[in-house]
Order: sequence, then structure tokens, then C-alpha cells
Amino acid sequence: MSNIDADLVVVGGGGAGLMAAGTAAMENDALNIVLLEQDPDEPCNTEIASNFIPAAGTRFQRATGVDDSLDVFVADVMAKNGGKGDPEVTHALCREAAAAVHQMADAFGVDMEFAPELTWVGHTNRRLHAHPSRGGPPIVAQLRKHIGAQPNVTVLNHTRATGLTLESDRVVGVTAEQDGQPFHVAAPCVALTTGGFSANREMLAEYIPEMAEAPNIGSNGDNGDGIRWGQEAGAALSLMSGYQGRDCIFEDGTRVTPPVLNEGGIAVNSTGRRFVNEREDYSALARVYRAQPGGVAYFIWDARIQRMVENVLVMQQAMERGGIVTGASLDAIADAYDLPAAALAETMARYNEGVRQNRDDFGRQELTVPLEAPWYAARITGAIAHTQGGLAVDTSCRVLRDDKTPIPGLYAGGNTIAGLSGDDPAGYLSGNGLLVAYASGMIIGRHAAESITT
Ligand SMILES: Cc1cc2nc3c(=O)[nH]c(=O)nc-3n(C[C@H](O)[C@H](O)[C@H](O)COP(=O)(O)OP(=O)(O)OC[C@H]3O[C@@H](n4cnc5c(N)ncnc54)[C@H](O)[C@@H]3O)c2cc1C
Repeated sequence: MSNIDADLVVVGGGGAGLMAAGTAAMENDALNIVLLEQDPDEPCNTEIASNFIPAAGTRFQRATGVDDSLDVFVADVMAKNGGKGDPEVTHALCREAAAAVHQMADAFGVDMEFAPELTWVGHTNRRLHAHPSRGGPPIVAQLRKHIGAQPNVTVLNHTRATGLTLESDRVVGVTAEQDGQPFHVAAPCVALTTGGFSANREMLAEYIPEMAEAPNIGSNGDNGDGIRWGQEAGAALSLMSGYQGRDCIFEDGTRVTPPVLNEGGIAVNSTGRRFVNEREDYSALARVYRAQPGGVAYFIWDARIQRMVENVLVMQQAMERGGIVTGASLDAIADAYDLPAAALAETMARYNEGVRQNRDDFGRQELTVPLEAPWYAARITGAIAHTQGGLAVDTSCRVLRDDKTPIPGLYAGGNTIAGLSGDDPAGYLSGNGLLVAYASGMIIGRHAAESITT
């Protein structure tokens, strides 16, 4: 591979990078855009995620009569993250989420629809959108197909960027390698969309020590490259301890979808007793699960809930991979996991009595209906899904130094930037990941296209 000249080089072909390249290509067909992806065969986080995307005011949402607004959306995000994060960047990303959903559907051919069927705690209104499969792979496949077909985009797969090149304080390109051969891509605009650092144990130990030993159910490509290179180029880091925690059945990422608990499922530990308000916060609960005896907990739900979630891709995978146990009686569930049967029966009876009386030992709100046989269950542990801290950016996703001035030529998006979840997993509101990925990618594409032509 010989050296290349481009107008914009995008590093990382997940949700943020594909949106950045696709948007820039659409905005100006005279631009020469290069997209580097180290390994398209290794699922990126955008493929691993169920891809529930929050947006207020889309035509999909309006068609169902939901009365939502940008202000309510922003307020929900800020309420969850405790107001930690840049309010202007938060506003810009939330505002562009609707445009990103429309652009994916209308310009990039992604099959999108409103997904109001499940409860996502913390969203005042139903505002999650998804692919009909309720999974990420078809979205990424269509984005790759569309962007790969653009005449002004060169996609270099199996090509790993290895660093930024700078002239004085300006970023002027990236070094990369393909088949072990180094080369250089010179470009006045560089976008870092390499994801976060959930697969980098050293960075986890430094910034998120509580999850340094936890399974990473996010992408193995989440190695922190973009964040480290941005920092080396003088960027400020922000909210580095923020992350999305999750539960997992197996370390390959087999998991149940959060609405299993939101819709009424419960969690017990190996004593057969509940230990927490399960509806509290699935992201923050990951460390609570890890603190239980043996580092495990057991989710139990019933057929009513199972019917609600059975079309979610990750639920189908969990079933196929043998991660979910079913039983006609609670004794069968206790037997399957070697739980004390009497304690489990007592726990369920007490929980159901509480639901009837609208009170809960752990302060659980919005109790639904009592759980009943037949039963479904899964043994889980706490995991890290993806990191939420990263490079500080402005509302155009230009990377900022400590003094808030932009580093010329450098953009970043997705999990490479400081997200919307504050500095703790409890700050993560469902959808904060893809909201940032797609909206920041679109903002980068627009701004970079404009800055090159003017
Ligand atoms: C289990 C799980 C469930 C989730 N569920 C949801 C959900 O329902 N809703 C939601 O909003 N968010 C969810 N998220 C979060 C969401 O997936 C991420 O926030 C989002 O996908 C990040 O997009 P990205 O483009 O930044 O990163 P990615 O999609 O991971 O893309 C980064 C790309 O950069 C490439 N790369 C890295 N380094 C280099 C390099 N040096 N050179 C070239 N290429 C490189 C990687 O190979 C990868 O393809 C979930 C995450 C996980 C793990």
C-alpha cells in the first residue's frame, strides 16, 4: 500500500465512523474520503448492541401520537447523569439524534421503525427506535453496503491506523498498516471513531478499576487507540470513569435484554433472596451483581414477560445458546441452579404479595402484575459493555484541548468522545451509546465537509 492523499480520513468503521464518512460523502460528492477499519469481521459495538436508538420528534415517533420534545429528552439525559457533562454538547447530540435516524432511513437505506413496545427506565416518553429485527448487525451491514458504494469513499478494511501525524499543532493525517506494510494517509481532516477502551485492561485499571477484572461483552477492538492518540496530540480527557455496565450470562456477551427486569422480572442471589431494586438501573447494577456471593445473580421472569421480549435478537441468541432455563415450577428453577428451593418460593411469594399491595421491600416503583408459572431464568454476572469517557469535543465534534480551543484538523465521535453519562455507570441512560455514535458521526461529516469546501 503506498501513501494516500484524502480530504477526510475516518479511523474506525463502526456506527460513528460509518455515519461520518457517509454524511461527508453525501454533503459533497467532490470530497475524497478514506475510511480505515482494522477488522470488519470482529463485531464492533454497533453490531453487538441491540441498537435501540433514542430520538425525540422523529416522524416515526410522531406517527404513533407520542408527544415528545427535545427539551424533555435533554432533561432526561441530564437527570440521569446528574448534570455532569457539557450542556451544549449534550443539547447538540440530542437535537441531531432525530436527524440521524431520518438520514439512516431515508438516505442510507436502513430499515428503521419506532420501537415503543418495551419499557426503558429514565425516558419520560417512548422514544426508542430500532431495526425490525431489534438487533445491530443488519443496521451495520446496510451502512457498510451504502457507504462502500459511494464513489467518493475508499473503504480500506483490515487496515489498522497506528497514530496521528502532526505538523506544528495541526493534525495532518494518520499512519496506518495493511498486511504489515506501513503507509500514510495525508488529510486536512481526521476523524477518530475507534470506539472506547473496554478491551484495554491497562486503561480500565487506570480509569475504571472497579471493572478491570470484569468480562468485557463489548468489542474486542475497543482498545482505546483514538483516545490515547488524541491525548498525545494535546486533547483534554473527560468523564473517563463513565461506562455502561451490563449483566451477561456467558462471557461471549450472551445476555438478556434490560426490559426483562423493567417489565417485572426479579433478581435473587445464591441464597434465593432478592438484594436490590431490579428496576433501579441496569448499568449501575453490574457492580452490584459482581458483589454477590460467587459474583453471580439469577434473573427470574415469567411467560408474560417472555412474550414481550422474545423477538429481541439477544433473547433469541440467549435461548439458542442454552443461557435461559425454563421450568413449570419454581422448584425446577431452584434445581437447575442449585438454589435453596424454600427460600426462592418464599421470595417469590413475598414479591408477588408486594405487587398486589403496591409496596416493595427494595422500593421498586411501577410494579406490574404478580409473576406466575411457567418460569424463565438465567444465571448472570456483572460485565462492562462499553466505556463512556473520552476526548473532550465541542458542538461540532472538534477535539478540544484543556483550554477549550480545538486541535486543528481533528474530530472525534462515538465512544472515543466523552459521552452523555457522567462519570459513573449510574449516569447511563438507555440509548446514550448509539445516540452519541450516530449523532456525532453525522455532525463530523457535515462539519468536515463544510470546513473543506469553505
Ligand atoms: C452489549 C452492548 C449492548 C449495547 N446496547 C446498546 C443499545 O441498545 N443502545 C445504545 O444506544 N447503545 C448500546 N450499546 C453501546 C453502543 O453499542 C456503542 O456506544 C456504539 O456502538 C459505539 O459506536 P462507535 O462507532 O463509537 O464504536 P464501534 O461501533 O465499536 O466502532 C469502532 C470501530 O473502530 C475500529 N477500530 C478501533 N481501533 C482502530 C484502529 N486503530 N484502526 C482502524 N480501526 C479501528 C473497531 O474495529 C470498530 O469497528 C451497547 C453496547 C454493548 C457492548
